[in-house]
Amino acid sequence: MSCLSIRHAERGDGAIVLNSRHEDGAPALREKLLESVPRSLRLPARKATLDVGGPKIALVYTRYSTSGQNQMSTARQLEDTAGYAKLVGFQIPNDGVYSDEERSGFFMTGREELERMLARVKAGGIHAILIGDSSRLARDFVDLGWLFKTLRRQRVELHTAQGGKMDMAQVAMHGYVNHQQVDTLVHNTRHARRSMVAELRIPWGARNFGYVKSARGRGHVEPDPVEKGIVKEIFRLAALDLGRARIAAILNERNQMGRRKTPWTADAVGRVLNNVLYRGIILYGRYIYTKDSEGNYSREAAPEDAWVIAYAEHLAIVDDVVWEAARPKRRTARTDGEPKSARGQFLLSELVRCPTCDRHMVCMGGRPSRFVCSGHNYNKSCANARSWDMGWVETGVLRLLAGVLDDASLYAPYLARLGAEAARAASDAASRRDGLVRQRDALEAELVASFDDAYTEGLEKHIVLKIRKGKQAKVDAINGKLAEIGSPRVVIDVARRVEELGGLASALRELSGEGAIDLGTPQGEELAGAIRALIRRVVPTPDPGSHGVHIELALAELGFYDPGTPADVGPVRIVRGAHVPPSREEQSRRRGLEEAERHLASGACSLDRATWAAIRHLVPDEAVGMLDGRRRGAEALVEVMLLALRLRRAATDLPDRYGSPEARRKAIKRFVRSGWWARVATVLGDEAPHLLDGIDPRRFDYVARPGMSARDGSGKKRPRRNMGIVVAMLSRPRGATLPEIAAETGQANRAIRVAISRLRCRRGFRITKARRPDGLNAWLADKAAR
Ligand SMILES: [Zn+2]
Repeated sequence: MSCLSIRHAERGDGAIVLNSRHEDGAPALREKLLESVPRSLRLPARKATLDVGGPKIALVYTRYSTSGQNQMSTARQLEDTAGYAKLVGFQIPNDGVYSDEERSGFFMTGREELERMLARVKAGGIHAILIGDSSRLARDFVDLGWLFKTLRRQRVELHTAQGGKMDMAQVAMHGYVNHQQVDTLVHNTRHARRSMVAELRIPWGARNFGYVKSARGRGHVEPDPVEKGIVKEIFRLAALDLGRARIAAILNERNQMGRRKTPWTADAVGRVLNNVLYRGIILYGRYIYTKDSEGNYSREAAPEDAWVIAYAEHLAIVDDVVWEAARPKRRTARTDGEPKSARGQFLLSELVRCPTCDRHMVCMGGRPSRFVCSGHNYNKSCANARSWDMGWVETGVLRLLAGVLDDASLYAPYLARLGAEAARAASDAASRRDGLVRQRDALEAELVASFDDAYTEGLEKHIVLKIRKGKQAKVDAINGKLAEIGSPRVVIDVARRVEELGGLASALRELSGEGAIDLGTPQGEELAGAIRALIRRVVPTPDPGSHGVHIELALAELGFYDPGTPADVGPVRIVRGAHVPPSREEQSRRRGLEEAERHLASGACSLDRATWAAIRHLVPDEAVGMLDGRRRGAEALVEVMLLALRLRRAATDLPDRYGSPEARRKAIKRFVRSGWWARVATVLGDEAPHLLDGIDPRRFDYVARPGMSARDGSGKKRPRRNMGIVVAMLSRPRGATLPEIAAETGQANRAIRVAISRLRCRRGFRITKARRPDGLNAWLADKAAR
């Protein structure tokens, strides 16, 4: 006898869901019984899951554990579920088995197969999920409940091989039992791990760098010969007081890689240095890990009496002496502010001093480097937060130096002394030469005489030979000394020195234009050495008259010369001067001009005869007349506009061959407002599309919009008051903020910004502070008041 239960499913709309549990699994009977259900009670087939006519599709979910903690194997689970499916008439598709490895515990995250299965359930067509036993699905009753509800929302049933279809009460009960089991398991595991420590086994799963698994069984490790060497090296380097990042860099350079052959990082080195295992100490239970509802672990330190500690001598890689030596040294904050790194890497290294505290200023940052007070930089012991572009300071110093060297009267005494020195050296050499020549002549005379028989009479032949040989050696020695005097090492030629120093001045001036001296070449090094020999100190301060740098240069006094004086003492000459580099706007304009010249040379924006003939009648004479007052080719106006569009620059930043910037601006404005430019652009688009390729002629439309200028689009004149207001507000000692200007002029912020930048560029208007230091606070207070 077959039994088909028809139950009201828990659905709000009261519809009936057929739930079949066949003891004999005969589909024909099911069909027959189904027909006995009144048609009005039948459910419209809204979803495939409700298609009670077809075969019932079920998916199987299993979970296997790698830790082997008393759980059913996957094969057993599959066997059970397959038997159950056959029993109740579920069909399991070939790809309907999902299997997750139970990784680190009991939460739902990280189970890709389960997620894939749920995605398939959502897609529809699934009637039920079969599981071996409920512990396979979720260990926590919160998780199990969530899963049950998710499946129920999809109208998918949950079946276990042992207990059949699960309902809410069963889910709750299973979940609760599982939870209890988990608690017991956790307790047992903790106990087991603690006992592992006593047996000198490693209770945690992660591999420790420096050790490999031993053949003695689970948890047993032994030092790895290669990695052991790296660990020792890390401790040795740390004992040398090298930083962790430095140690990591050294190891990576030697290709001594860390865990899983990855490069070392400072953190990884730090973990090695702090791991007591390398001392041979197994320490377990230092932290208590807890899981929150999201499945994330957090840890807190466990009390020390809960730690399990064992001493494993065979695991020690470093001894206690090395361990202690590698502990970080207690570092005291530097108060002298003298950095170790102030060495001659750059032309002015060690020469630049802070105007506030007189400490060295050091070069920081990449290119361009900046000089910053070392005291401020290291521990903020100096209030001078101002940093200076290295190129600015170098250029300023070189220019000042060149100016000094131009003044010959400054170093004339120096040169005169040099000359006197040279003369004295020359007379010394002459008198010495005279003496040597006299000596040599005497010796040579004796040598010649030795060939006389009367002189050698009564002497044996070998003695005569010896005497001659000795005299010849003396003559040779004197000849050698004379040759040395003949080519003195130091020839001081005053005229040449003047020329050299004059040449140095012009060389310095040339170098200062380039910005930096290449210290990499021998010539550069020599030149830098000569420059550094002259400079005692450089003090950069803000230039009160400009945005540039004011430099106070202390030079070795050139007029002073005393050979006995060391190079760094003696009188000093102070030279002061400012270096004002081009402002950003000037640089931008200069770059624009260069770019435009290059582009003009290529001829890409010039109008040919035919094109010009096509648009000639569209350029009104009055527009041309505006170009600088002089009547130049009307095509110049069109060309300059095309060029501005092509280069994406303001038309006023282009070369002056097209008239003055102001005249050009007015001409363009008139040309665009009159609408002729639009017509020209249309014709150009037809006649010479290459000229408009990739550019948008409508970019000039901005001049037709009302803005900060005196005219608006209607052509009637507005009182030119906004610009005046902006200038007046910015000229106040405290400056002005954008909201203040906006309130005063009624203009949008963007328009105000554009106006300010135009003021800067076009009129050379210097705006030292366009923003008030307390601007934000003022704005906030203002806003709060409103
Ligand atoms: Zn300072």
